[in-house]
Amino acid sequence: MRYISTRGQVAPVTSAEAIKLGIAPDGGLFVPWEGVNLSQDEFALMRSMSYQERAVAILEKFLTDFTVDELKAHVEAAYGPGKFDHPDVAPVRLIHDNVYALELWHGPTCAFKDMALQLLPHLLTASTRKTGEDAHIAVLVATSGDTGKAALEGFRDVPGTSIIVFYPAEGVSLVQERQMVTQEGGNVHVVAVEGNFDDAQNGVKNIFQDQGIKEVLEKRKIKFSSANSINWGRLVPQIVYYISAYLDLAKMNGVKTGQPVNVVVPTGNFGNILAAFYAKQMGLPVNKLICAANANNVLTDFIRTGVYDRNRPFMKTISPSMDILISSNLERLLWEIAGRDPEPVRGWMRQLQETGRYQVGFEVLKKIQGTFWSDWANDQETLATIRSTYDACGYLLDTHTAVAVKVYHRYRKETGDDTPTLIASTASPFKFAGSVAEAILGPDVASRHDEFSLLRLLAEKCGLAIPRGLQGLENKPVRHRLKVSPGEMASTVLKLLAE
Ligand SMILES: *Cc1c(COP(=O)(O)O)cnc(C)c1O
Repeated sequence: MRYISTRGQVAPVTSAEAIKLGIAPDGGLFVPWEGVNLSQDEFALMRSMSYQERAVAILEKFLTDFTVDELKAHVEAAYGPGKFDHPDVAPVRLIHDNVYALELWHGPTCAFKDMALQLLPHLLTASTRKTGEDAHIAVLVATSGDTGKAALEGFRDVPGTSIIVFYPAEGVSLVQERQMVTQEGGNVHVVAVEGNFDDAQNGVKNIFQDQGIKEVLEKRKIKFSSANSINWGRLVPQIVYYISAYLDLAKMNGVKTGQPVNVVVPTGNFGNILAAFYAKQMGLPVNKLICAANANNVLTDFIRTGVYDRNRPFMKTISPSMDILISSNLERLLWEIAGRDPEPVRGWMRQLQETGRYQVGFEVLKKIQGTFWSDWANDQETLATIRSTYDACGYLLDTHTAVAVKVYHRYRKETGDDTPTLIASTASPFKFAGSVAEAILGPDVASRHDEFSLLRLLAEKCGLAIPRGLQGLENKPVRHRLKVSPGEMASTVLKLLAE
């Protein structure tokens, strides 16, 4: 299996090279050149497998330059006993009727990013060795909150790597920030950026494309890589859980074998929902992919009108991991939908870069709408959904998953479609305890306590345990205090890597 760039100006590479490079040298994203299918027999065989075994069976299809034994070892290191606090790794739970939560937050940092970022460091260091590279790998990450901590946990003390995480100073929750600035490990750096997520992400993208920095670091035998969701090694582990969830749903009699499901995904950078799209391409019976956005509803507008326009105010919401106006992974979908033709993709991405806007043609839009449906929810609706779902079903949603549930209710009302539905549950409600407590305990209680006390109050009220990764955060020593402007990001990287 070879990988090519969505912009079409790079010779095909192996999966190890694609993972090592992160972003393609022409600025595009690596995509698998051939289609990957799962046969009926393969689906049937996977039914009785553990999550780990299913992961190996699926990764094997995409990462053909890894041996099965290598993949088994990496999967064991990522999802083996003790890593996740649930034996099924990504369990499926009934919310009501035929609506199920696919809980993706049982990993060490309590958000779905762990599903990919526990595995990526192993894939990345193995890829480096496989391609005969002996340079030190410096991983740069821009985070809207959850990626940063998950990447830090994934890479901490992994030999041959360093990691630098940039987060928007005003754009993450108190718990998220505390999780990052208390990070332990000898190869980790955490830096606040004055600006929003897009500023941080653009800063990282610019550093990746800066030849000057690259040359300086090459002399020191250091090479950049990315752990952002543009890296193929991030995306491929995410395909696994959609397929695994379907098999679990069949076991729970939630679907008959072959019966389609809808998948609802609270979306930011378009990575998670794109993985569901790839699962569908492989033959998973998916009816609609429902893209749920918050007030930064650039994707909803795009899916409805074919116009992608980031020229709009950036909104800070209570679902900060979805506060994104440039959804990088959409480029991979555009490439697939445009008949795997890099020409139009290059044009759209150039327009996006130059004007912040592009419009796809009617044919492309119709194809997108054949698979995708989208709507968005504001903060008030999100809080109301957390409350009503808890009252009606006893199920506690985080703010991101609540956006998905709200949008799903609208979908069902507008279309009447009652296909069994999987809702990607992307964070533990405790990770966003401030807003969740406001919904459940009322704004008065929430305003009288800090986020750490709210964790405890919420646990008491709902009879749930605070996840391990969030216990005792307020007492951990702060180890990272650096704060820079977007313009200082490049020099900061050089400085930190010289240490
Ligand atoms: C990252 C994240 C999202 C958005 O996922 P994308 O793959 O960027 O679309 C949604 N919810 C939570 C909790 C996240 O951490």
